[in-house]
Amino acid sequence: MIHLEKAGSVTIIGGGVAGIQAALEMANLGILVYLVEEKPSIGGRIIELNCSSCRLEVPMDCSICPVIPKIVECYHHPNIKILTNAEIMGISGSAGNFQLNVLKRPRFVNEDKCTGCGACTEKCPVEIFDAFNMVKGRKKAIHFPLPQAFPQVPIIDREDCLHFRSGTCEKCSEACPSAAINFNDEEMMIGIKSEAIILATGLSLFDPSRIKEYGYKRYKNVITILDLEQMTSIHGPTRGKIVRISDKKEPKSIAFIQCVGSRSRRTNNNFCSGICCMYTAKDAALVKILKPETEVYVFYIDLRVFGKGYQELFNKVRNSLGVNYIRGRPGGIWEDPETRDLIISFENTLTQRAEKLRVEMVVLSPALLPHPNNRRLAEFLGLELDEHGFFKSPNPVSQPFDTTLKGVFTCGYCRGPRGISESATQASAAAGRVTEAITLAKMGRSKA
Ligand SMILES: Cc1cc2nc3c(=O)[nH]c(=O)nc-3n(C[C@H](O)[C@H](O)[C@H](O)COP(=O)(O)OP(=O)(O)OC[C@H]3O[C@@H](n4cnc5c(N)ncnc54)[C@H](O)[C@@H]3O)c2cc1C
Ligand code: SF4
Ligand code: SF4
Repeated sequence: MIHLEKAGSVTIIGGGVAGIQAALEMANLGILVYLVEEKPSIGGRIIELNCSSCRLEVPMDCSICPVIPKIVECYHHPNIKILTNAEIMGISGSAGNFQLNVLKRPRFVNEDKCTGCGACTEKCPVEIFDAFNMVKGRKKAIHFPLPQAFPQVPIIDREDCLHFRSGTCEKCSEACPSAAINFNDEEMMIGIKSEAIILATGLSLFDPSRIKEYGYKRYKNVITILDLEQMTSIHGPTRGKIVRISDKKEPKSIAFIQCVGSRSRRTNNNFCSGICCMYTAKDAALVKILKPETEVYVFYIDLRVFGKGYQELFNKVRNSLGVNYIRGRPGGIWEDPETRDLIISFENTLTQRAEKLRVEMVVLSPALLPHPNNRRLAEFLGLELDEHGFFKSPNPVSQPFDTTLKGVFTCGYCRGPRGISESATQASAAAGRVTEAITLAKMGRSKA
């Protein structure tokens, strides 16, 4: 076990936009920050999204562009130690003296040597399922986690790699010009001592296949908005082109369905995800901008488009771009077995008429839920979660970024629904609270 320790050190759990922003704020003040991320790259959800605000010509916080320089700065900052592919196994201690046990899983590729050239992935003979590439659906056993992942260093999937299964392949290693492949890489338990902890575990997506009548995973042309974000991204599998999964043709009509699994007693998620109306409008607009002749429909319960620029975006989407908004939650979707088109049945709650709509593609906007990891972290720390699974603050007005345990703070989506810019703002505030706590501790004083 390796022990990492330094006076004035903070651990941030979660390397999304909130974790990164908080890390930079404190690191720039000279505080040593450990940023622990369970995925192989930092950036969180944002690196899975498209970049579109420039294409929409509406000032809004929808894109990854402003965040990318921060991700790079964070990765190279001398006061930030990043542990990717890492899992928190236990936390003990109290404010001023927390001990965290972190399990760092092997990547089998040396991050310091790798140049991201991709020669290894080209030579790998093994193809596996790729959940982030609905169009191609395949990736290699050695692959880059995502096109926009940082660091751009591949990882070997041990379960599928022929070297680990049968000892019959070393093609990636032979192809690598930098001798970066390390089949002997091992799990490592790392002990971290920290004066404070910031939780920034972000969000998880509701699984839309739970709403059986929408046919997700049964009907090929029913996809999620995250799949569409991948397609419309210039780094994505189709380089920005929208295609149906069944025949790879460009759809002439698309229906978006908002609030899939949210604001529903049936799924036990009765809260509003807060940002789906806005990013659905953004993606509906993008479809129209990329291919204006596409018929676009959006099914909604209510429209909640608050925030800078969002009402303007919504007005543009509905009035100038001609997206059809239909009030009503569809009751079911059926597939035409010949064309693979989709027939949506719904009650238009404005006209109170039962209707049907035939489209070539359906895009579901699933509920954005608190991360399931919150429960385990809450158990380690004895923290309280609210009824949905978000971290609870002792006083939302006077101590919004504190938790029920002194020395542990929160920011971003793990506190409740919010978009990119608010997550970053909160991260700066949480970093301020930690800096204050560390400074007061050094002065021998504490704040109630
Ligand atoms: C399809 C979609 C479209 C969106 N579009 C927009 C948009 O246009 N505009 C906008 O403002 N917002 C948008 N959002 C919301 C945006 O993604 C969030 O506001 C933002 O990602 C929140 O940042 P975060 O850092 O709190 O969480 P995340 O981005 O979720 O990052 C949290 C990180 O913590 C890691 N983590 C979790 N648990 C642990 C653990 N125990 N140990 C270590 N690491 C852990 C996760 O792996 C993740 O990397 C969209 C979201 C989705 C899903
Ligand atoms: S050793 Fe494994 S990862 Fe490398 S090329 Fe062979 S199968 Fe692919
Ligand atoms: S071939 Fe080597 S240097 Fe190039 S991406 Fe693969 S591991 Fe990295």
